[in-house]
Amino acid sequence: MIKLKGVVASGGIAIAKAFLLGKEELSIPKRKIFHEDVSREIYRLEEALIETRREISTLQKKISEDLGFDHAKIFEAHLLILEDRVLIEDIIQQIKNKKVNAEFAFSQSIKKYIDTLLKINDEYLRERVVDIEDVARRVMRKFLKQEEKKIQDLKEKVIIVAHDLSPSQTATLPKENILGFITDVGGRTSHTAIIARSLGIPAVVGLEIATQNIAPDDKLIIDGIEGTVIARPTDKVLRDYQRKSAKIAVIKEAIHIPKAKARTIDKREIVVSANIELPEELALAHEFGADGIGLYRTEYIFLGKKELPSEEEQYKAYLSVAKKIKPASVILRTIDIGGDKFLSQPQVPVEMSPFLGWRAIRFCLARPEVFKVQLRAILRASAEGNVKVMFPMISSVEELREAKKLIEECKRELKKEGLAFDEKISIGIMIEVPSAALTADVLAKESDFFSIGTNDLIQYSLAVDRANEKVAYLYDPAHPAVLRLIKSVIENAHKNNIWVGMCGEMAGEPLFALLLLGFGLDEFSMPPPFIPKIKELIRSVNFKDTQALALKAVDFSTSREVEKFLQEELRRFLKDDYERICMA
Ligand code: PEP
Ligand code: MG
Repeated sequence: MIKLKGVVASGGIAIAKAFLLGKEELSIPKRKIFHEDVSREIYRLEEALIETRREISTLQKKISEDLGFDHAKIFEAHLLILEDRVLIEDIIQQIKNKKVNAEFAFSQSIKKYIDTLLKINDEYLRERVVDIEDVARRVMRKFLKQEEKKIQDLKEKVIIVAHDLSPSQTATLPKENILGFITDVGGRTSHTAIIARSLGIPAVVGLEIATQNIAPDDKLIIDGIEGTVIARPTDKVLRDYQRKSAKIAVIKEAIHIPKAKARTIDKREIVVSANIELPEELALAHEFGADGIGLYRTEYIFLGKKELPSEEEQYKAYLSVAKKIKPASVILRTIDIGGDKFLSQPQVPVEMSPFLGWRAIRFCLARPEVFKVQLRAILRASAEGNVKVMFPMISSVEELREAKKLIEECKRELKKEGLAFDEKISIGIMIEVPSAALTADVLAKESDFFSIGTNDLIQYSLAVDRANEKVAYLYDPAHPAVLRLIKSVIENAHKNNIWVGMCGEMAGEPLFALLLLGFGLDEFSMPPPFIPKIKELIRSVNFKDTQALALKAVDFSTSREVEKFLQEELRRFLKDDYERICMA
């Protein structure tokens, strides 16, 4: 049994077999194996070699038929390498003696083989290196295929183990068979973590060495509460976790799912909305009683596509969400490409610091021809649904003005073309860059609403990469600097008579909900599974009391003091309901 510690990404407990998701270009993972795994690894090696032989023979036959026998002769050499007993014996010895996984042993032996040939001063032998490399690549692909097994054909429930998962990979995985995610890299608000939370799937990220220590089909336990992963658990540990998991299921069952709006005891009404990325999350938003969609991350329509989606395609996608959520509203956030979300096209080049680079509104303003297609689609959808539009990563009022100018341009075009839209569509901005937070008074005069994006606001104000596990311990929503920024944004929005919401992950954390309520936040938007408990929490308190709590919370000098205070207050407010609301 081994236990690994990572960063909590999505709560809950998952127990299932490991499914390793590899990437061809990744370095070959070295995994320690145990004595009892040796025969399984040798079997995997033999399987990979047999499959490669079969593949080469088929290829040889085809080339021979198409181009003639002479052209197919090259494959003879390839087949001979695969049958080289000295090489195969060396790999087996490595598996047995060094206790490493088959693909790692294979790669080491091949490397030795090639190094030896290169040292011999013989042109013919040196030329053979190319053949060996070619064969080695084929075998490695077989290993990867064994592990990837065609993920789309999964017949059983698994936990995905990966070095990293891009947002587009995560978005396209067959979620019905995935009980959890674990990755070597990533932080609490990296986009894989966000999707896992939205779907209510336990996840731990930033484990650093998970892929080196977990083998395919290993039994795994994800403890999304503690942020740990246990591989090959003992029977006792497994039983303990099965009990814990059953207890959480009972607590979850007991959570009331309210359809009505959340009101504090002293009648302050709060909007509690859902964040969505993928169409399937819309059903979850309904199921968990969302008052609307507070953040639709529209960039997910663009990810993993060869071509940019057309105006019509986007219009249909936005309209479908708007119609389904009607009469409630949907806030369509314009594309936030860059950072850790990239188009498959070479539109966004690789940058040194992508989170500080050509991201979100910066990309859109530089590419008005792409941006206007989206704005037209959003405007057209606004004719039939309750649609609001929101710009991400605004850092100055000039950017806001430029984006609004493009909306005006699109409105004029649509009018000319006789296409309908909502003339008075609400235009809001995300407050997620410190410069925007500090000039909220200026921005509020030209916006219809704000939504505070704490995922980025925290990373930018504390200078902590939100997706980097090495600095995850510094990523701190309770930092006094973050609290001051949030408080002042809300005050400035209200002074200028606009409403202010929050769509960063912080809004869904019970620990901070009372504080945000006390600051005067008007709307909380979060992954759907968090809605019931935040609504319940709002219903259990007096707004006046949370205001008093908020005044005290901003007086502390350290985040540890803030957290301790909020924890105590939360227990005091919720009493016997604490565990039910906060632990599930
Ligand atoms: C945020 O930054 O808080 C936010 C909601 O946007 P995203 O997580 O998509 O960057
Ligand atoms: Mg953001």
